[in-house]
Amino acid sequence: MPKYIVVTGGVLSGLGKGIVASSIGVLLKSQGYNVTAIKIDPYLNCDAGTMNPYQHGEVFVLEDGGEVDLDLGNYERFLDINLGKKNNITTGKVYKSVIEKERRGDYLGKTVQIVPHITNEIKAWIRKVAKESGADICIIEIGGTVGDIESMPFLEAVRQLHIEEGHENVIFIHTTLVPIISVVGEQKTKPTQHSVKELRAIGISPDAIVGRCSEELTEETKRKISLFCDVPVNAVFSSPNVECIYEVPIVLEKQGMSSFISKRFGIPEKKVDLKTWQDFVERIKKAENEVKIALVGKYTALGDSYLSILEAFRHASAALNTKVNVVWVESEDIEKKGTKILDEVDGILVPGGFGSRGAEGKIKAIEYARINKKPFLGICFGFQLAVVEYGRNVLGLECHTTEIEPNVKHPIITILPEQYDVDMLGGTMRLGAQPIIIKEGTLAYSLYKKKEVKERHRHRYEVNPDYVEMLEKHGFVFSGIAKDKIRMEIAELPEHPYFIASQFHPEFKSRPLKPAPLFYGLVKAAMENKK
Ligand code: GLN
Repeated sequence: MPKYIVVTGGVLSGLGKGIVASSIGVLLKSQGYNVTAIKIDPYLNCDAGTMNPYQHGEVFVLEDGGEVDLDLGNYERFLDINLGKKNNITTGKVYKSVIEKERRGDYLGKTVQIVPHITNEIKAWIRKVAKESGADICIIEIGGTVGDIESMPFLEAVRQLHIEEGHENVIFIHTTLVPIISVVGEQKTKPTQHSVKELRAIGISPDAIVGRCSEELTEETKRKISLFCDVPVNAVFSSPNVECIYEVPIVLEKQGMSSFISKRFGIPEKKVDLKTWQDFVERIKKAENEVKIALVGKYTALGDSYLSILEAFRHASAALNTKVNVVWVESEDIEKKGTKILDEVDGILVPGGFGSRGAEGKIKAIEYARINKKPFLGICFGFQLAVVEYGRNVLGLECHTTEIEPNVKHPIITILPEQYDVDMLGGTMRLGAQPIIIKEGTLAYSLYKKKEVKERHRHRYEVNPDYVEMLEKHGFVFSGIAKDKIRMEIAELPEHPYFIASQFHPEFKSRPLKPAPLFYGLVKAAMENKK
Protein backbone atom coordinates (compact mmCIF):
# COMPACT_ATOMS: atom_id res chain seq x y z
CA MET A 1 0.00 0.00 0.00
CA PRO A 2 1.55 3.33 -0.97
CA LYS A 3 2.16 6.06 1.56
CA TYR A 4 1.52 9.72 0.76
CA ILE A 5 3.37 12.96 1.40
CA VAL A 6 1.19 16.00 0.77
CA VAL A 7 3.02 19.26 0.17
CA THR A 8 1.01 22.46 0.54
CA GLY A 9 2.04 26.09 0.28
CA GLY A 10 1.24 29.15 2.32
CA VAL A 11 1.61 32.94 2.25
CA LEU A 12 2.32 33.28 -1.45
CA SER A 13 3.00 31.31 -4.58
CA GLY A 14 6.37 30.86 -6.24
CA LEU A 15 8.08 29.67 -3.06
CA GLY A 16 9.70 26.73 -4.75
CA LYS A 17 7.25 24.24 -3.27
CA GLY A 18 7.86 22.00 -6.28
CA ILE A 19 11.59 22.00 -5.62
CA VAL A 20 11.01 21.12 -1.97
CA ALA A 21 8.66 18.30 -2.98
CA SER A 22 11.10 17.02 -5.64
CA SER A 23 13.98 17.22 -3.17
CA ILE A 24 12.08 15.11 -0.65
CA GLY A 25 11.60 12.64 -3.50
CA VAL A 26 15.36 12.54 -4.09
CA LEU A 27 15.96 11.69 -0.42
CA LEU A 28 13.41 8.88 -0.52
CA LYS A 29 14.68 7.52 -3.81
CA SER A 30 18.25 7.50 -2.58
CA GLN A 31 17.08 5.17 0.22
CA GLY A 32 15.83 2.74 -2.37
CA TYR A 33 12.15 3.65 -2.26
CA ASN A 34 10.11 3.74 -5.40
CA VAL A 35 8.69 7.25 -5.65
CA THR A 36 6.07 8.88 -7.84
CA ALA A 37 4.63 12.39 -7.82
CA ILE A 38 1.34 14.09 -8.54
CA LYS A 39 1.00 17.81 -9.14
CA ILE A 40 -2.42 19.31 -8.50
CA ASP A 41 -3.20 22.55 -10.31
CA PRO A 42 -6.42 24.12 -9.09
CA TYR A 43 -7.15 26.05 -12.30
CA LEU A 44 -10.06 25.24 -14.60
CA ASN A 45 -7.98 24.55 -17.70
CA CYS A 46 -7.89 20.82 -18.43
CA ASP A 47 -4.15 21.11 -18.94
CA ALA A 48 -1.42 23.71 -19.26
CA GLY A 49 -1.33 23.42 -23.06
CA THR A 50 -3.68 26.31 -23.70
CA MET A 51 -1.83 28.75 -21.46
CA ASN A 52 0.68 31.41 -22.40
CA PRO A 53 4.07 30.84 -20.67
CA TYR A 54 3.66 34.22 -18.99
CA GLN A 55 0.79 32.70 -16.98
CA HIS A 56 2.56 29.82 -15.23
CA GLY A 57 5.91 29.43 -16.96
CA GLU A 58 6.72 26.90 -19.65
CA VAL A 59 4.37 24.15 -20.73
CA PHE A 60 6.23 20.92 -20.01
CA VAL A 61 5.65 17.97 -22.36
CA LEU A 62 5.65 14.34 -21.21
CA GLU A 63 6.38 11.10 -23.08
CA ASP A 64 2.66 10.39 -23.45
CA GLY A 65 2.07 13.86 -24.89
CA GLY A 66 0.68 15.39 -21.71
CA GLU A 67 1.08 19.19 -21.73
CA VAL A 68 1.59 19.87 -18.08
CA ASP A 69 2.79 22.21 -15.38
CA LEU A 70 6.53 22.81 -15.23
CA ASP A 71 6.77 21.18 -11.81
CA LEU A 72 6.36 17.82 -13.52
CA GLY A 73 9.63 18.67 -15.25
CA ASN A 74 11.26 19.16 -11.86
CA TYR A 75 9.98 15.78 -10.70
CA GLU A 76 11.26 14.05 -13.82
CA ARG A 77 14.68 15.69 -13.52
CA PHE A 78 15.14 15.25 -9.77
CA LEU A 79 13.81 11.70 -9.66
CA ASP A 80 14.99 10.60 -13.12
CA ILE A 81 11.59 9.05 -13.88
CA ASN A 82 9.03 9.49 -16.65
CA LEU A 83 5.61 10.67 -15.58
CA GLY A 84 2.33 10.75 -17.53
CA LYS A 85 -0.69 12.99 -18.06
CA LYS A 86 -2.36 11.36 -15.08
CA ASN A 87 0.31 12.77 -12.78
CA ASN A 88 -1.05 16.28 -13.29
CA ILE A 89 -4.55 16.78 -11.89
CA THR A 90 -6.37 20.02 -12.66
CA THR A 91 -9.79 21.26 -11.60
CA GLY A 92 -10.75 21.13 -15.28
CA LYS A 93 -9.88 17.44 -15.58
CA VAL A 94 -11.73 16.51 -12.38
CA TYR A 95 -14.90 18.42 -13.24
CA LYS A 96 -14.86 17.13 -16.81
CA SER A 97 -14.74 13.56 -15.58
CA VAL A 98 -17.50 14.09 -12.98
CA ILE A 99 -19.76 15.88 -15.45
CA GLU A 100 -19.25 13.12 -18.02
CA LYS A 101 -20.22 10.55 -15.40
CA GLU A 102 -23.29 12.60 -14.49
CA ARG A 103 -24.37 12.72 -18.15
CA ARG A 104 -23.82 8.98 -18.46
CA GLY A 105 -26.13 8.46 -15.51
CA ASP A 106 -23.52 7.08 -13.10
CA TYR A 107 -24.99 9.11 -10.25
CA LEU A 108 -28.62 8.53 -11.26
CA GLY A 109 -31.07 9.80 -8.68
CA LYS A 110 -28.47 11.77 -6.75
CA THR A 111 -27.62 15.43 -6.39
CA VAL A 112 -24.04 15.74 -7.67
CA GLN A 113 -21.98 17.88 -5.28
CA ILE A 114 -18.45 19.05 -4.58
CA VAL A 115 -18.47 16.91 -1.44
CA PRO A 116 -18.61 13.94 -1.95
CA HIS A 117 -18.53 13.64 -5.75
CA ILE A 118 -15.67 15.96 -6.66
CA THR A 119 -13.64 15.01 -3.59
CA ASN A 120 -14.22 11.29 -4.24
CA GLU A 121 -13.07 11.75 -7.81
CA ILE A 122 -9.87 13.46 -6.60
CA LYS A 123 -9.12 10.71 -4.06
CA ALA A 124 -9.82 7.95 -6.57
CA TRP A 125 -7.52 9.65 -9.08
CA ILE A 126 -4.70 9.98 -6.55
CA ARG A 127 -5.02 6.36 -5.40
CA LYS A 128 -5.13 5.05 -8.96
CA VAL A 129 -1.98 6.91 -9.99
CA ALA A 130 -0.14 5.82 -6.83
CA LYS A 131 -1.21 2.20 -7.24
CA GLU A 132 -0.55 1.90 -10.95
CA SER A 133 2.91 3.40 -10.61
CA GLY A 134 3.84 0.71 -8.11
CA ALA A 135 5.35 3.41 -5.89
CA ASP A 136 6.09 2.96 -2.21
CA ILE A 137 5.62 6.66 -1.65
CA CYS A 138 3.56 9.13 -3.64
CA ILE A 139 4.29 12.83 -3.28
CA ILE A 140 1.30 15.09 -3.87
CA GLU A 141 1.98 18.77 -4.41
CA ILE A 142 -1.03 21.04 -4.20
CA GLY A 143 -0.52 24.12 -6.33
CA GLY A 144 -1.63 27.56 -5.24
CA THR A 145 -1.75 28.90 -1.72
CA VAL A 146 -3.78 27.61 1.22
CA GLY A 147 -6.82 29.84 1.56
CA ASP A 148 -7.47 30.14 -2.19
CA ILE A 149 -11.08 29.30 -3.04
CA GLU A 150 -9.90 27.19 -5.95
CA SER A 151 -7.82 24.76 -3.92
CA MET A 152 -10.52 24.03 -1.31
CA PRO A 153 -11.87 20.77 -2.85
CA PHE A 154 -8.34 19.40 -3.17
CA LEU A 155 -7.45 20.21 0.42
CA GLU A 156 -10.70 18.66 1.58
CA ALA A 157 -9.89 15.55 -0.47
CA VAL A 158 -6.42 15.14 1.07
CA ARG A 159 -7.88 15.74 4.52
CA GLN A 160 -10.20 12.79 3.89
CA LEU A 161 -7.34 10.77 2.42
CA HIS A 162 -5.46 11.15 5.71
CA ILE A 163 -8.38 9.76 7.73
CA GLU A 164 -9.08 6.95 5.30
CA GLU A 165 -5.49 5.82 4.70
CA GLY A 166 -4.50 6.21 8.35
CA HIS A 167 -2.26 8.65 10.16
CA GLU A 168 0.85 6.47 9.63
CA ASN A 169 0.37 6.62 5.87
CA VAL A 170 -0.09 10.33 5.17
CA ILE A 171 2.28 13.19 6.03
CA PHE A 172 1.49 16.86 5.54
CA ILE A 173 4.37 19.23 4.83
CA HIS A 174 3.59 22.92 4.62
CA THR A 175 5.98 25.32 2.87
CA THR A 176 5.73 28.99 3.77
CA LEU A 177 7.58 32.24 3.43
CA VAL A 178 9.66 33.64 6.27
CA PRO A 179 10.39 37.20 5.21
CA ILE A 180 13.15 39.38 6.59
CA ILE A 181 12.23 42.99 7.07
CA SER A 182 15.34 44.76 5.98
CA VAL A 183 15.29 47.61 8.51
CA VAL A 184 15.37 45.33 11.54
CA GLY A 185 16.86 42.28 9.79
CA GLU A 186 14.56 40.00 11.76
CA GLN A 187 13.04 36.78 10.39
CA LYS A 188 9.28 37.18 10.64
CA THR A 189 7.16 34.14 11.49
CA LYS A 190 3.72 35.78 11.57
CA PRO A 191 2.82 34.98 7.93
CA THR A 192 3.66 31.32 8.65
CA GLN A 193 1.50 31.36 11.77
CA HIS A 194 -1.44 32.77 9.82
CA SER A 195 -1.09 30.33 7.02
CA VAL A 196 -0.94 27.35 9.40
CA LYS A 197 -4.06 28.71 11.12
CA GLU A 198 -5.77 28.73 7.73
CA LEU A 199 -4.70 25.13 7.12
CA ARG A 200 -5.96 24.01 10.52
CA ALA A 201 -9.31 25.67 9.87
CA ILE A 202 -9.71 23.26 6.96
CA GLY A 203 -8.88 20.36 9.24
CA ILE A 204 -5.28 19.74 8.24
CA SER A 205 -2.49 19.80 10.82
CA PRO A 206 0.93 20.06 9.25
CA ASP A 207 3.50 17.51 10.41
CA ALA A 208 6.41 19.61 9.23
CA ILE A 209 6.99 23.16 8.07
CA VAL A 210 9.55 24.24 5.51
CA GLY A 211 10.34 27.94 5.82
CA ARG A 212 11.55 29.61 2.63
CA CYS A 213 13.80 32.44 3.59
CA SER A 214 16.63 34.32 1.94
CA GLU A 215 18.89 32.90 4.66
CA GLU A 216 18.86 29.92 6.99
CA LEU A 217 16.21 30.05 9.72
CA THR A 218 17.76 30.81 13.09
CA GLU A 219 17.19 28.46 16.02
CA GLU A 220 15.04 31.21 17.52
CA THR A 221 12.84 31.33 14.40
CA LYS A 222 12.52 27.55 14.34
CA ARG A 223 11.50 27.53 18.01
CA LYS A 224 8.94 30.26 17.42
CA ILE A 225 7.39 28.43 14.47
CA SER A 226 7.37 25.22 16.51
CA LEU A 227 5.60 26.90 19.40
CA PHE A 228 2.97 28.81 17.46
CA CYS A 229 2.32 26.21 14.80
CA ASP A 230 2.37 23.17 17.07
CA VAL A 231 5.05 21.13 15.34
CA PRO A 232 8.21 19.80 17.01
CA VAL A 233 11.34 21.95 16.51
CA ASN A 234 13.00 19.14 14.54
CA ALA A 235 10.07 19.28 12.10
CA VAL A 236 10.76 22.91 11.18
CA PHE A 237 13.07 22.98 8.18
CA SER A 238 14.88 25.82 6.58
CA SER A 239 14.99 26.27 2.83
CA PRO A 240 17.33 29.20 2.25
CA ASN A 241 18.32 30.69 -1.10
CA VAL A 242 20.84 28.44 -2.81
CA GLU A 243 23.10 28.99 -5.77
CA CYS A 244 21.61 26.02 -7.59
CA ILE A 245 18.26 24.29 -7.01
CA TYR A 246 19.88 20.85 -7.00
CA GLU A 247 21.38 21.73 -3.61
CA VAL A 248 17.99 21.64 -1.91
CA PRO A 249 17.94 17.85 -1.19
CA ILE A 250 21.34 18.22 0.48
CA VAL A 251 20.19 21.23 2.52
CA LEU A 252 17.06 19.40 3.74
CA GLU A 253 18.96 16.21 4.52
CA LYS A 254 21.48 18.09 6.66
CA GLN A 255 18.54 19.06 8.86
CA GLY A 256 17.32 15.48 9.14
CA MET A 257 14.45 15.42 6.66
CA SER A 258 14.69 11.74 5.73
CA SER A 259 14.97 10.67 9.34
CA PHE A 260 11.91 12.77 10.21
CA ILE A 261 9.91 11.14 7.40
CA SER A 262 10.97 7.59 8.31
CA LYS A 263 10.03 8.11 11.96
CA ARG A 264 6.70 9.68 11.14
CA PHE A 265 5.84 6.86 8.70
CA GLY A 266 7.19 4.24 11.09
CA ILE A 267 9.48 2.79 8.42
CA PRO A 268 13.12 1.77 8.92
CA GLU A 269 15.69 4.56 8.63
CA LYS A 270 17.88 3.68 5.70
CA LYS A 271 21.15 5.16 4.59
CA VAL A 272 20.76 8.17 2.33
CA ASP A 273 23.46 8.12 -0.30
CA LEU A 274 23.75 11.54 -1.93
CA LYS A 275 27.29 11.13 -3.22
CA THR A 276 26.47 11.25 -6.96
CA TRP A 277 24.06 14.08 -6.35
CA GLN A 278 26.62 16.04 -4.35
CA ASP A 279 29.26 15.50 -7.04
CA PHE A 280 26.87 16.78 -9.68
CA VAL A 281 26.14 19.93 -7.64
CA GLU A 282 29.85 20.51 -7.08
CA ARG A 283 30.55 20.21 -10.80
CA ILE A 284 27.95 22.89 -11.56
CA LYS A 285 29.20 25.23 -8.85
CA LYS A 286 32.88 24.81 -9.52
CA ALA A 287 32.84 24.87 -13.32
CA GLU A 288 36.18 26.29 -14.50
CA ASN A 289 35.14 27.64 -17.89
CA GLU A 290 32.37 29.98 -18.94
CA VAL A 291 30.44 30.58 -22.13
CA LYS A 292 27.78 33.07 -23.10
CA ILE A 293 24.78 31.78 -24.98
CA ALA A 294 22.06 34.04 -26.32
CA LEU A 295 18.51 32.82 -25.83
CA VAL A 296 16.54 34.62 -28.51
CA GLY A 297 12.89 34.32 -27.55
CA LYS A 298 9.70 36.24 -27.01
CA TYR A 299 8.96 35.40 -23.37
CA THR A 300 12.36 36.44 -22.05
CA ALA A 301 10.92 38.63 -19.29
CA LEU A 302 10.05 35.47 -17.34
CA GLY A 303 12.87 32.95 -16.92
CA ASP A 304 10.37 30.19 -16.08
CA SER A 305 9.07 30.38 -19.66
CA TYR A 306 12.21 28.53 -20.70
CA LEU A 307 12.85 26.55 -17.52
CA SER A 308 13.72 23.20 -19.12
CA ILE A 309 16.15 24.92 -21.48
CA LEU A 310 17.94 26.52 -18.54
CA GLU A 311 18.06 23.17 -16.77
CA ALA A 312 19.37 21.44 -19.89
CA PHE A 313 22.18 24.02 -19.95
CA ARG A 314 22.97 23.17 -16.34
CA HIS A 315 23.14 19.46 -17.09
CA ALA A 316 25.46 20.10 -20.03
CA SER A 317 27.48 22.49 -17.94
CA ALA A 318 28.08 19.86 -15.22
CA ALA A 319 29.26 17.41 -17.86
CA LEU A 320 31.57 19.91 -19.57
CA ASN A 321 33.00 21.80 -16.60
CA THR A 322 31.65 24.99 -18.18
CA LYS A 323 29.23 27.50 -16.76
CA VAL A 324 26.61 28.74 -19.20
CA ASN A 325 25.74 32.41 -18.86
CA VAL A 326 22.46 32.96 -20.63
CA VAL A 327 22.12 36.29 -22.42
CA TRP A 328 18.41 37.01 -22.72
CA VAL A 329 17.60 38.52 -26.07
CA GLU A 330 14.05 39.62 -26.82
CA SER A 331 13.64 38.80 -30.51
CA GLU A 332 11.71 42.00 -31.17
CA ASP A 333 14.79 43.93 -30.02
CA ILE A 334 16.79 42.35 -32.84
CA GLU A 335 14.13 43.64 -35.25
CA LYS A 336 14.53 47.13 -33.85
CA LYS A 337 18.23 47.31 -33.01
CA GLY A 338 19.88 44.66 -35.17
CA THR A 339 22.13 41.75 -34.26
CA LYS A 340 24.96 43.66 -32.57
CA ILE A 341 24.17 42.07 -29.22
CA LEU A 342 25.03 38.68 -30.73
CA ASP A 343 28.66 39.72 -31.39
CA GLU A 344 29.56 39.12 -27.76
CA VAL A 345 28.06 35.63 -27.36
CA ASP A 346 29.65 32.24 -28.01
CA GLY A 347 26.48 30.50 -29.10
CA ILE A 348 22.86 31.16 -30.04
CA LEU A 349 19.69 29.27 -29.16
CA VAL A 350 16.32 29.97 -30.76
CA PRO A 351 13.68 28.14 -28.73
CA GLY A 352 10.12 27.00 -29.47
CA GLY A 353 7.37 29.53 -29.91
CA PHE A 354 4.15 30.51 -31.59
CA GLY A 355 2.88 33.37 -33.70
CA SER A 356 4.32 36.33 -35.52
CA ARG A 357 5.58 38.56 -32.71
CA GLY A 358 9.37 38.57 -32.86
CA ALA A 359 9.60 35.90 -35.59
CA GLU A 360 11.57 38.13 -37.97
CA GLY A 361 14.05 38.88 -35.18
CA LYS A 362 14.55 35.15 -34.68
CA ILE A 363 15.13 34.68 -38.41
CA LYS A 364 17.75 37.46 -38.30
CA ALA A 365 19.48 35.77 -35.35
CA ILE A 366 19.57 32.48 -37.28
CA GLU A 367 20.99 34.18 -40.36
CA TYR A 368 23.63 35.78 -38.16
CA ALA A 369 24.57 32.41 -36.63
CA ARG A 370 24.78 30.77 -40.07
CA ILE A 371 26.87 33.45 -41.73
CA ASN A 372 29.17 34.19 -38.78
CA LYS A 373 29.62 30.50 -38.00
CA LYS A 374 28.41 30.89 -34.43
CA PRO A 375 27.24 27.67 -32.77
CA PHE A 376 23.48 27.49 -33.13
CA LEU A 377 20.68 25.31 -31.82
CA GLY A 378 17.12 25.81 -33.06
CA ILE A 379 14.24 24.14 -31.27
CA CYS A 380 10.79 23.51 -32.80
CA PHE A 381 9.79 27.01 -33.98
CA GLY A 382 13.54 27.72 -34.04
CA PHE A 383 13.95 24.72 -36.38
CA GLN A 384 11.09 25.85 -38.60
CA LEU A 385 12.47 29.38 -38.83
CA ALA A 386 15.94 28.02 -39.67
CA VAL A 387 14.30 26.36 -42.69
CA VAL A 388 12.58 29.64 -43.59
CA GLU A 389 15.87 31.53 -43.26
CA TYR A 390 17.66 29.08 -45.57
CA GLY A 391 14.76 29.12 -48.00
CA ARG A 392 14.83 32.91 -48.18
CA ASN A 393 18.53 33.69 -48.07
CA VAL A 394 20.10 30.71 -49.80
CA LEU A 395 17.37 29.38 -52.07
CA GLY A 396 16.06 32.90 -52.78
CA LEU A 397 12.44 31.92 -52.19
CA GLU A 398 9.69 34.18 -50.97
CA CYS A 399 8.83 31.72 -48.22
CA HIS A 400 7.47 31.52 -44.71
CA THR A 401 5.55 29.31 -42.34
CA THR A 402 1.83 29.33 -43.03
CA GLU A 403 1.32 29.80 -39.29
CA ILE A 404 2.35 33.42 -39.87
CA GLU A 405 1.62 33.96 -43.57
CA PRO A 406 -1.14 31.58 -44.68
CA ASN A 407 -1.01 32.70 -48.34
CA VAL A 408 2.74 32.98 -48.79
CA LYS A 409 4.07 32.10 -52.26
CA HIS A 410 6.31 29.29 -50.97
CA PRO A 411 4.84 27.63 -47.86
CA ILE A 412 8.10 25.99 -46.82
CA ILE A 413 6.67 25.25 -43.37
CA THR A 414 3.08 24.19 -43.40
CA ILE A 415 0.36 22.59 -41.33
CA LEU A 416 0.58 18.85 -40.65
CA PRO A 417 -1.96 16.88 -42.72
CA GLU A 418 -3.59 15.45 -39.58
CA GLN A 419 -4.26 19.03 -38.46
CA TYR A 420 -6.43 20.00 -41.47
CA ASP A 421 -9.71 19.29 -39.74
CA VAL A 422 -8.71 20.14 -36.19
CA ASP A 423 -10.96 22.80 -34.72
CA MET A 424 -10.44 22.11 -31.00
CA LEU A 425 -7.09 23.60 -30.02
CA GLY A 426 -6.60 21.94 -26.61
CA GLY A 427 -4.35 18.87 -26.66
CA THR A 428 -4.46 18.46 -30.44
CA MET A 429 -0.92 19.28 -31.58
CA ARG A 430 1.52 16.52 -32.56
CA LEU A 431 2.53 15.72 -29.01
CA GLY A 432 4.89 13.60 -26.98
CA ALA A 433 7.60 11.08 -27.71
CA GLN A 434 7.96 10.02 -31.34
CA PRO A 435 10.71 7.85 -32.87
CA ILE A 436 13.34 9.49 -35.08
CA ILE A 437 15.80 7.79 -37.41
CA ILE A 438 19.23 9.41 -37.45
CA LYS A 439 21.49 9.28 -40.48
CA GLU A 440 24.93 7.89 -39.84
CA GLY A 441 27.91 10.12 -40.50
CA THR A 442 26.07 13.30 -39.51
CA LEU A 443 26.55 15.73 -36.64
CA ALA A 444 23.31 14.45 -35.12
CA TYR A 445 24.67 10.90 -35.17
CA SER A 446 27.93 11.97 -33.58
CA LEU A 447 25.93 13.54 -30.75
CA TYR A 448 23.35 10.81 -30.16
CA LYS A 449 25.58 7.90 -31.16
CA LYS A 450 22.43 5.97 -32.02
CA LYS A 451 20.40 5.23 -35.13
CA GLU A 452 17.06 5.64 -33.44
CA VAL A 453 15.98 7.96 -30.65
CA LYS A 454 12.71 9.10 -29.16
CA GLU A 455 12.18 12.76 -28.42
CA ARG A 456 9.22 14.86 -27.29
CA HIS A 457 7.17 17.02 -29.63
CA ARG A 458 4.65 19.82 -29.48
CA HIS A 459 3.84 21.33 -32.84
CA ARG A 460 1.14 21.83 -35.47
CA TYR A 461 3.40 22.77 -38.40
CA GLU A 462 6.24 20.96 -40.13
CA VAL A 463 8.67 21.17 -43.06
CA ASN A 464 6.66 21.01 -46.27
CA PRO A 465 7.77 17.72 -47.96
CA ASP A 466 7.61 19.47 -51.37
CA TYR A 467 10.67 21.56 -50.48
CA VAL A 468 12.90 18.91 -48.93
CA GLU A 469 14.71 17.96 -52.14
CA MET A 470 15.38 21.57 -53.07
CA LEU A 471 16.73 22.37 -49.60
CA GLU A 472 18.99 19.33 -49.62
CA LYS A 473 20.32 20.14 -53.08
CA HIS A 474 21.50 23.45 -51.67
CA GLY A 475 23.42 21.93 -48.76
CA PHE A 476 20.77 21.81 -46.05
CA VAL A 477 20.98 18.34 -44.48
CA PHE A 478 18.07 16.59 -42.83
CA SER A 479 19.94 14.25 -40.53
CA GLY A 480 16.94 13.06 -38.53
CA ILE A 481 13.68 11.93 -40.05
CA ALA A 482 10.56 10.60 -38.36
CA LYS A 483 10.01 6.86 -38.59
CA ASP A 484 7.17 7.50 -41.05
CA LYS A 485 9.90 8.88 -43.38
CA ILE A 486 7.81 11.96 -44.24
CA ARG A 487 8.55 14.26 -41.36
CA MET A 488 11.79 16.17 -41.05
CA GLU A 489 13.07 16.11 -37.48
CA ILE A 490 16.69 17.33 -37.42
CA ALA A 491 18.46 19.72 -39.77
CA GLU A 492 22.13 20.64 -39.89
CA LEU A 493 24.72 22.45 -42.01
CA PRO A 494 27.90 20.42 -42.60
CA GLU A 495 30.01 23.47 -43.54
CA HIS A 496 29.29 25.11 -40.19
CA PRO A 497 31.06 24.29 -36.88
CA TYR A 498 27.74 23.68 -35.12
CA PHE A 499 24.44 24.50 -36.76
CA ILE A 500 21.71 22.10 -35.76
CA ALA A 501 17.98 22.36 -35.25
CA SER A 502 15.26 19.95 -34.21
CA GLN A 503 11.51 19.79 -34.71
CA PHE A 504 11.30 18.22 -31.24
CA HIS A 505 12.19 19.67 -27.86
CA PRO A 506 15.40 18.02 -26.61
CA GLU A 507 15.24 20.00 -23.36
CA PHE A 508 12.35 17.95 -21.99
CA LYS A 509 14.42 14.79 -21.74
CA SER A 510 17.58 16.30 -20.37
CA ARG A 511 18.46 14.94 -16.93
CA PRO A 512 21.14 15.97 -14.41
CA LEU A 513 23.45 13.09 -15.25
CA LYS A 514 22.25 12.59 -18.82
CA PRO A 515 22.44 15.96 -20.58
CA ALA A 516 20.46 16.26 -23.82
CA PRO A 517 22.95 15.58 -26.66
CA LEU A 518 21.99 18.68 -28.68
CA PHE A 519 22.60 20.91 -25.64
CA TYR A 520 25.83 19.14 -24.79
CA GLY A 521 26.94 19.77 -28.36
CA LEU A 522 25.98 23.43 -28.26
CA VAL A 523 27.87 24.17 -25.04
CA LYS A 524 30.91 22.24 -26.29
CA ALA A 525 30.88 24.09 -29.61
CA ALA A 526 30.45 27.41 -27.79
CA MET A 527 33.59 26.63 -25.75
CA GLU A 528 35.51 25.83 -28.90
CA ASN A 529 34.19 28.95 -30.61
CA LYS A 530 35.51 31.04 -27.73
CA LYS A 531 39.07 29.77 -28.09
N1 GLN B 1 4.34 27.20 -33.66
C1 GLN B 1 5.02 26.06 -34.18
C2 GLN B 1 4.07 24.92 -34.46
O1 GLN B 1 2.98 24.91 -33.98
C3 GLN B 1 6.13 25.62 -33.27
C4 GLN B 1 5.67 25.13 -31.94
C5 GLN B 1 6.76 25.08 -30.91
O2 GLN B 1 7.78 25.72 -31.04
N2 GLN B 1 6.52 24.35 -29.84
O3 GLN B 1 4.41 24.00 -35.16
